Amino acid sequence: MKKIVIALDGYSSCGKSTMAKDLARQIGYTYIDTGAMYRAVTLYSMRNGIIKNGTIDTEKLERSMKDIHISFVFNPETGRPDTYLNGENIEKEIRTMEVAGWVSPVAALSFVRKALVSQQKQMGETKGVVLDGRDVGTVIFPDAELKIFVTAKPEVRAQRRLDESLAKGESVTFEEVLRNVQERDLLDTTRKEGPLKKADDAIVLDNSDMSIEEQKEWLLEQFNQVVTK
Ligand code: C5P
Repeated sequence: MKKIVIALDGYSSCGKSTMAKDLARQIGYTYIDTGAMYRAVTLYSMRNGIIKNGTIDTEKLERSMKDIHISFVFNPETGRPDTYLNGENIEKEIRTMEVAGWVSPVAALSFVRKALVSQQKQMGETKGVVLDGRDVGTVIFPDAELKIFVTAKPEVRAQRRLDESLAKGESVTFEEVLRNVQERDLLDTTRKEGPLKKADDAIVLDNSDMSIEEQKEWLLEQFNQVVTK
């Protein structure tokens, strides 16, 4: 069967990564979480005094890009890849509200996008990959054979993210999460380079009222339609 590139783009916290990871596992493809890479750069910046006193030292970050090495290593326990920063597993550390609060301004920096987009293109060049992010179908792989644009109501997305955060023991409120989701959406859709937008040939999925099982089934169906064409 031919191998393809599957691009899942969409708004923050609408379950793209769950759908993408599950599909990749089901069809034996490699999953690439492009958002995790922006989160890794953000975590590095927080740890190394690049983000401090409420600002990003962009010159220092640009100089540091050569020292930031991001990779994914399959975790047999979860059946999914974990994100590594310079050899350290940072899968948990990049999912905090603090990182979520800084990631969109970091991701709007042109030199950050250039560096990560070039790595993402390389990671997917052999095909047989599922990528989720904001610019996969528009910038990284404009020729992807299957493009999905995922959306859901902001309140539904905030509730899903809140449930996840509470389950991990973070103390956050619904209002904080909703504000973060809305702020990231605004920054992601209005930035100059690689803004979040639907590719002309992407299929829209509004999953506000769908269960994870229904989304999985729907996505597998889209995949089967493309590969058996
Ligand atoms: O997908 P996730 O919520 O982990 O992404 C975190 C942030 O990384 C997004 O809000 C966005 O600012 C940025 N991002 C991006 N381009 C991508 C993936 C993520 O700008 N391809």
